[in-house]
Amino acid sequence: MRIRCKKCGWLQDCFWSENYNPLDELVTDHMKACLMSYSTTKMDTWMADECGISYSDSKDGECTVDSKDYVVFYLQEAVNKIRNMMWRTDTEWKVYKTANGPKCPKCNENSLIEEAC
Ligand SMILES: [Zn+2]
Repeated sequence: MRIRCKKCGWLQDCFWSENYNPLDELVTDHMKACLMSYSTTKMDTWMADECGISYSDSKDGECTVDSKDYVVFYLQEAVNKIRNMMWRTDTEWKVYKTANGPKCPKCNENSLIEEAC
C-alpha cells in the first residue's frame, strides 16, 4: 500500500519491512554487474523517457541505457524514497491516521488516500 495526496500529489512509496526496503532493492547482482561493467543495460523505454535517461535504441518497450546512468538513477530513487518516507510501516501510518486524520505532510489538507502498490 502507498499513500498519496489527492490535492497536491505528495506520494509515499510502499511501506517497508524486513523483506522490502530501498537498500534491498539496490543490492542485487544485476546492480553490481551494472556498476562494475560500465557498459549498457536494458530498461523500460517509458521509464527512461519519464526520468530523462538517454538511450541509444528502443524496441518492444525496452531501450538500451548506459549502465552507470541506470545505477545512478536507482540510487537517486532510493535517496528520494528514504527522504520522503513519513511512516516506515503500516503500523506507524495507522497510529498517525488515528491521531491526526489523513492530513498531508506537504499541504496540510485531509486528503491522503491509500492505494495498492
Ligand atoms: Zn497534499
